[in-house]
Amino acid sequence: MRCIIARERVMGEKDCIFCRIANGEIPSKTLYEDEEFKVILDAGPATRGHALILPKSHYANLYELPDEAAVKVMLLAKKMAVFMTEKLGCDGFNLVQNNGKAAGQTVFHFHLHLIPRYKDDGQTLGWKPLELKQEELEEIKNIIIG
Ligand code: AMP
Ligand code: ZN
Repeated sequence: MRCIIARERVMGEKDCIFCRIANGEIPSKTLYEDEEFKVILDAGPATRGHALILPKSHYANLYELPDEAAVKVMLLAKKMAVFMTEKLGCDGFNLVQNNGKAAGQTVFHFHLHLIPRYKDDGQTLGWKPLELKQEELEEIKNIIIG
């Protein structure tokens, strides 16, 4: 166990709170753990059961996450969502993943939010829709794929 932690710490960032949680240096409310991931309850939850999937290796964000890890994260998210929905009796489920300060990321170690939703839970994870003209949408499309 010590070896695994030491190896991950070399790969990670010394003062990264999620590296320390994911590798067991700091205790957490753990819902699931395997060799590569830990799923913990969020300490400042949006709703009852709000959890985070943390890779044990340090990747700052989605851009740094290797493809193989991305596949595993989504499979794990699906399993956790099904399991948690059954256990918590929630009415819906959000997956949220923030990258960069501008997008609301506050901890710079990749994590995927698992957010159970309840009818009338009072949370809003939405956005205010922009009113764009067809030409503007076309221009954006061309920037992305043009
Ligand atoms: P984000 O804004 O996407 O970077 O999300 C960071 C999340 O991490 C927030 O929902 C925090 O409540 C949560 N968080 C921060 N520190 C801890 C911690 N020590 N244990 C559990 N969750 C944490
Ligand atoms: Zn980290």
